[in-house]
Amino acid sequence: MKIGNIWTDQYGDRPENVNVDTLVVHTMYHPEDNDCFCAVKCKFWLDQCGVSAHYIIDRKGTVVQTVALDKMAWHAGESQMPYADDQRTRVNDFSIGVELLASEDEPATEEQYKSLVELTSLLMDDYDIASIVGHQHIAPARKSDPWNFDWAKLKSQLEAEVPGDLRIGV
Ligand SMILES: [Zn+2]
Repeated sequence: MKIGNIWTDQYGDRPENVNVDTLVVHTMYHPEDNDCFCAVKCKFWLDQCGVSAHYIIDRKGTVVQTVALDKMAWHAGESQMPYADDQRTRVNDFSIGVELLASEDEPATEEQYKSLVELTSLLMDDYDIASIVGHQHIAPARKSDPWNFDWAKLKSQLEAEVPGDLRIGV
């Protein structure tokens, strides 16, 4: 899989000895540009907002990395894991953030699901990813993204690609 880079300076250091084991899925678009699904423009919008994600996946499935994985991207905000046996807060510390370019009316494309599955599989070579959650699951009072996301589809596509017991959604 080809992954481009547009680095941002909006990131921090992860805590020492943290185990990165969670993927957080988001959706976004540029709210002030007609070309609202352009990855470059969306990245600059995130810069302007003082936030970031490790990856942006555009509607054709093109993957762009903007933060190094050993650094902390600022995507989750005030957040908490949603499971009975995992209620860790500060999800940015131990997660990798992925923004899918989509809107409330235009949900993620097949190409985006495909790239997300491929990216997850790639990340699992280096990280013991245990959970994939949406922003809505870790900050339910504040966030509703990823909008109209088909968790069942992601689950079935991932299970076909990556064996093991990943926790997907809630
Ligand atoms: Zn989000």
